[in-house]
Amino acid sequence: MFLTEYFNYLVNGFAVVFLRLDWIQDPRNKSEDDTVEDRLYYMKRKYVDIKTHMKHKPEVIIVGGGLVGAVLAISLAQKKIPVTVIDKEPLDQQIKPENDGRTTAVSYGSQQIFNELGIWQDIEPCAQPIWEIRVFENASPWTVDYDYKDVGSNPMGYIVENKVIRKAIQSHIDNPYLDWVSPATIESTKKLKEKVVINLQDKRVIEAKLLVGAEGRFSPTRNQSSIATKTWDYPQIALVAHIQHEKPHQGTAWEIFFKEGPLAVLPMFDCPETGHPRSGLVWVKSKKHDWTKKTDEQLADELQELFPFYGKVKICSRRWMYPLSALTVDSMIDDRLVLIGDAAHVVHPIAGQGVNLGWRDAAVLADCIQEAISLGLDIGSHTILSAYQNKRKLDHRSILLMTDGINRLFSNSSTALHILRNAGFAAVNNIKPLKRFFMKKAMGL
Ligand SMILES: Cc1cc2nc3c(=O)[nH]c(=O)nc-3n(C[C@H](O)[C@H](O)[C@H](O)COP(=O)(O)OP(=O)(O)OC[C@H]3O[C@@H](n4cnc5c(N)ncnc54)[C@H](O)[C@@H]3O)c2cc1C
Repeated sequence: MFLTEYFNYLVNGFAVVFLRLDWIQDPRNKSEDDTVEDRLYYMKRKYVDIKTHMKHKPEVIIVGGGLVGAVLAISLAQKKIPVTVIDKEPLDQQIKPENDGRTTAVSYGSQQIFNELGIWQDIEPCAQPIWEIRVFENASPWTVDYDYKDVGSNPMGYIVENKVIRKAIQSHIDNPYLDWVSPATIESTKKLKEKVVINLQDKRVIEAKLLVGAEGRFSPTRNQSSIATKTWDYPQIALVAHIQHEKPHQGTAWEIFFKEGPLAVLPMFDCPETGHPRSGLVWVKSKKHDWTKKTDEQLADELQELFPFYGKVKICSRRWMYPLSALTVDSMIDDRLVLIGDAAHVVHPIAGQGVNLGWRDAAVLADCIQEAISLGLDIGSHTILSAYQNKRKLDHRSILLMTDGINRLFSNSSTALHILRNAGFAAVNNIKPLKRFFMKKAMGL
């Protein structure tokens, strides 16, 4: 005890002496309104590992520090709202390339969220702007061409590897208001009138006013609450891989609708090792389809036939498989509990909207919590949580309906629907306001 105290004094002493020099050297420590106490924290952290000993009592516990939960945590911490994240996986598991080979279509709106949090600067060097999106149905003459110039001068979004986003996010979790507890297993969660109490298997106890469920589609936090879910499986599976091609993609994203499901070829940042143009592949087919029957070379040949203007095509990664399903909840809130990200909604990846929807949840929830605190209100109260739910409901419903509807419309061989689809393509491509509406929706605006 005496030794620990003595060590703390020693560290504080050093911190005070070197504070100014260290402060100038560390680019993270530029916030004007950080207190001397905060600065001391930064200093101490360099000498003692106190990552899981936040000096503030948490106001919020987030269970699940994935793509969505971690963004909410950073946003709260940057607003100086103490937050604890509990995740079952160690941090380094998240960024192992073999665990997630997906790319994400980061919408223009999500890019703005990352920009405000200072995370975009770490993503941007590896983000491929989308300048054009071309959509068509296989064996149909109609296409829809979305060009960024139709809605302004910004790209319509960016294609980024998930591992790049995760790395960038992780480089921002070092904050005196953020406690990251992982790997950790929750033994019990008690929701009391005034607070939530979580007991971890290692006997740690964490308390806060609000619990956020962000553990993705199988969220145990949601399943243990009184929130009812509706879920359905699509009879489809998505193959994810990366391809390398001879000719540049010019920032064009392609989506071709086949009867079994869509094929998306998404422009990626050129390969850092070889400098070759690359694209991300998301190929949805029937669950019955046996992907193992085709070698990489046969898959590449098929793609080359569909995209002859890309020159020689090669599969340049391993393959990842994702069975597809959808999920919606009857409520996003319960006593002292709120859901965000895939814990609250899972949508078909047909339009690349799932995690963008989650990032909008995180941004709105962080603002609601900040406003409640500034007004001296209880952040776990029904009034505050309902305000969050009301702001998010329409976005969730419209994206779920849109993605589910498009998938059903195109996975149908009825002649009447085929004519309807062609008419739809022609209308969207030629009626400018309609086209702009869809583009803005996809851009998260
Ligand atoms: C093929 C495919 C392509 C996609 N492409 C796009 C796209 O282009 N654009 C887009 O917007 N979306 C896309 N999506 C959707 C997107 O991947 C998801 O919406 C996103 O991963 C959800 O993030 P999340 O943080 O909510 O959940 P997750 O990513 O599932 O993270 C959950 C976190 O919770 C942790 N966890 C789980 N259980 C526990 C527990 N019991 N205790 C503690 N922690 C726990 C996990 O370790 C993890 O860190 C795609 C999905 C698929 C399948």
